[in-house]
Amino acid sequence: MIIVTNNEGGSGIPTTAKLLEQGVASLDAIEAGVRLVEADEAVRTVGRGGWPNLLGEVELDASVMDGTSLRTGAVGALQGFLHPVSVARQVLERLPHELLVGEGAMRFAAEIGAQAGELLMPHARTAWRHWFEDEVSEGERNRWPDVPMADLCRHAIDPEVGRDTTVFISQDRAGNIAAGTSTSGWGWKYPGRLGDSPVIGAGSYADTRYGACACTGVGEMSIRAGTARAVVLYMKMGMSVEEAVYEAVADMRSLKGGLIGRVTIHAIDAAGGHKVVAVNGTPENYYWIWRDELASPISCRPEIIAISDDPAPKSTAHRRYEQMGL
Ligand code: ASP
Repeated sequence: MIIVTNNEGGSGIPTTAKLLEQGVASLDAIEAGVRLVEADEAVRTVGRGGWPNLLGEVELDASVMDGTSLRTGAVGALQGFLHPVSVARQVLERLPHELLVGEGAMRFAAEIGAQAGELLMPHARTAWRHWFEDEVSEGERNRWPDVPMADLCRHAIDPEVGRDTTVFISQDRAGNIAAGTSTSGWGWKYPGRLGDSPVIGAGSYADTRYGACACTGVGEMSIRAGTARAVVLYMKMGMSVEEAVYEAVADMRSLKGGLIGRVTIHAIDAAGGHKVVAVNGTPENYYWIWRDELASPISCRPEIIAISDDPAPKSTAHRRYEQMGL
């Protein structure tokens, strides 16, 4: 039995670990843990309290994958609901589909009675308002929101404003492997932007026969490299979990242009092994792990591998965030 989550998963991993210890299935234990992270307003990048998009609206992405049935459920750009991971779970349980976005996802969330609530918290509202007043020209403010947003997005977005997604990957007592993700994505993203978190195969993948992988950081990179599926496929083709993650890092080295920043790759194998690498990471990056023999989850440092000497410059939104001490 093993669970690995990124640093933002700290408020959920004790519960997931306890449930796994009691014999609860991977997917249920993950959903319970992710819900706690979504409810934790101190986590500025997941659920309530997450950073807004350019319009000042919080849009949430989440996914789950059952590695035994290979069923998935995911939602993207979901507004107004507190637990996107549970809406994603119900996509898996109730629909013949795997991914819902935007208005359709909201319609489905309302239809199943998912818990609605305000997602934009005062710190995020204040930061967005300051950005709007300081960085958007008077002419654009007067025409808002009917203004071109591509340039605003290029200058404002920064994955590290958001700090992180939460990702959980685990194996239960019966050997079932599952994955779950939840995020508000990048702060100041273009409305409707989906990161890797709801894209199965990019931000997460689980296959009980081989293992699971989930990513945080610049989702655009994991989407381009198909990272999570690639790691599991490399294990299927005979690589160890370490070799599979290194191969996925090599895939990322091949990316040309676009935004290159940090991506942390978390992976487990079916034999209880794990590997976490922070591509372009920094020394403060960490993750949580729990196994049967541990009394409680422990935090560990990932291996850091630089693939770029030229990480993206801090955006105006990131500077604003730091200046305000938010
Ligand atoms: N991977 C997330 C996304 O691209 C963000 C993050 O983990 O920092 O939306």
